[in-house]
Amino acid sequence: MIRKKADTAASMLQVIHAMEQLQKNPKRAKELYDLYSGDSVKDEEIPFGIIDAARMYRIGAFNRFASDDHMTLNEDQLEKTDDAHLFILPSYFNHSCIANAYRTCYGDVMVVHAAADIKKGEEIYLSYICPLTEYSKRKETLNSWKFECHCQLCETDSKDKLCFKRDRIFAEFFKYLKANKSSPKKVIAKGEPILKKIRETYSDRNEYKIRLAEMLIFLSQMYADIDNPLKSIQYFEEVLTLVDNPLKYSVNIAFGYITIAQCYSRIGNNQKYNEMIQKAYEFSFCNNKDHFKMRFSRFL
Ligand SMILES: [Zn+2]
Repeated sequence: MIRKKADTAASMLQVIHAMEQLQKNPKRAKELYDLYSGDSVKDEEIPFGIIDAARMYRIGAFNRFASDDHMTLNEDQLEKTDDAHLFILPSYFNHSCIANAYRTCYGDVMVVHAAADIKKGEEIYLSYICPLTEYSKRKETLNSWKFECHCQLCETDSKDKLCFKRDRIFAEFFKYLKANKSSPKKVIAKGEPILKKIRETYSDRNEYKIRLAEMLIFLSQMYADIDNPLKSIQYFEEVLTLVDNPLKYSVNIAFGYITIAQCYSRIGNNQKYNEMIQKAYEFSFCNNKDHFKMRFSRFL
């Protein structure tokens, strides 16, 4: 485990950690050296017992996973962690923004879950970056890892002339939200006209209206905070129609269901409360109810 993923000192720490592991277990070296280490390097065999720190450094640069790659929409969303890890097996998953698998990290343990039905023989993809990141940044980051993504989201975004404008409008709102998250009324006053603008930018596009879904989720939370449960429920229901695809995990749909459960509880509809909590559980990737309660106890 290292701190500050983009930091050179941290990268060196990761190499040192990997070297220590290999000293204890030299048989592991082949598995590690087999990982992608950049186009310019030939895959020459490294003799048994020899530790190639430079190669490890490059392997770390191309393969490390950061815990903060996926933004979450709970309270911790605005404070990202800066841990990063190197895992051998998960490094073999290729990238797609619309990935059919989703990873969660518990400290230095990674758990990979299916985010869609995966047929036998079908490739399993993880998203290396948060797919909610704006298109230009996704493209730039993936290019720095020497590949391009041709997933449906990237194809749609590349043809969408309003992408940049929409992302700029959303970024303005997000900045405001960060600064004013304890004043939901102010956020709603600022957010409603922005919601309208973002909706307009999607008038010619029918799929992956991610920014609209994000706006609705944030506002739904704000309406829940000012005790307007009906509005909160209305917004969340629209979100469900917008993220009926693997991206629902990226917008942390489980947490959305919990917010809505609380709204139903406030209007005295216990049946709906239980239904929504059940949905939150199903979409939370928790192994059992105890695990679920542990993760979401603050909100239940
Ligand atoms: Zn993509």
